[in-house]
Amino acid sequence: MAPSGHTSVVGVIGDPVAHSLSPAIHNAAFAALGLDWVFVAFPVPAGEAPAAVDAVRALGIRGLSVTMPHKAAVLDALDRLTPTAAALGAVNCIRRDHRGALVGENTDGAGFVGGLRADFGFDATGARCVVLGAGGAARAVVRALAGAGASAVQVVNRTGVTAAVAAALAGPVGSVAGPDVVAGADLVVNATPVGMAGDVGLPCDPSLLGPGQVVAELVYHPARTPLMAAAHDQGARTANGLSMLVHQAAVAFELWTGSPAPVEVMAEAARAALEP
Ligand code: NAP
Repeated sequence: MAPSGHTSVVGVIGDPVAHSLSPAIHNAAFAALGLDWVFVAFPVPAGEAPAAVDAVRALGIRGLSVTMPHKAAVLDALDRLTPTAAALGAVNCIRRDHRGALVGENTDGAGFVGGLRADFGFDATGARCVVLGAGGAARAVVRALAGAGASAVQVVNRTGVTAAVAAALAGPVGSVAGPDVVAGADLVVNATPVGMAGDVGLPCDPSLLGPGQVVAELVYHPARTPLMAAAHDQGARTANGLSMLVHQAAVAFELWTGSPAPVEVMAEAARAALEP
């Protein structure tokens, strides 16, 4: 549908943002549902997040995805934060409420847990989980796993201070641990960039992995990381980071439009956009 004076506009702010898969994912979903909406990538340099939020208000933009380096910088410019966004100190999605107030959300954790359930049949209830890494994505995952009923969420990170901050987000089931805990986990999550395109490194000792475990990547390029290959060789099931990307986008889509997200259309658009 060609944009007109009635078209609802949403987008993503970030720097860099030209490589973002979000326009392909969301515009495919709008087209599939026949919605008169369009999703645009807005390159916004560091320091300009408050001005971008002002522009959202002035231009009547219906919602935004927020990526690096603005996830924390938008906090003070918004009218309200959800408990998850406030706890994480990071917003990846802005929506308007029924009064027009701008609400900061964080859909990464819900996207991760929802994707694992929908795409891989993994239910975190009662699961012993190990999260490798303690950055922004890891913190969202740690909190969401605890919220989904995990019996333990152990954070393994090369920097202890940040590991403790992440583990605290899981409340009583959270703890900081050493790399050997991978052996006793039901779910191992790689929330470090180790294994991204061109990196042949492994974020943990693969000999500790085995049958009965699910090894989930947040990395989605390449589609099969060195960790996924090693985990598969050890008999573990593996999950790619594209699932989280698509499902956090689906949560944002539903917050903005109020329509159920066509998740398979969104996943196919993401896969097509990643193809060389
Ligand atoms: P971040 O905030 O920079 O955190 C990176 C974490 O990885 C830190 O804990 C860091 O440890 C650790 N780390 C970095 N390099 C390492 C290395 N060589 N060896 C061991 N640990 C290392 O990054 P982020 O935003 O959380 O993103 C992490 C990964 O998730 C990236 O690959 C990103 O692309 C991916 N991601 C995917 C999705 C998705 O939708 N699939 C969403 C968000 C992020 P220190 O604390 O010691 O520095």
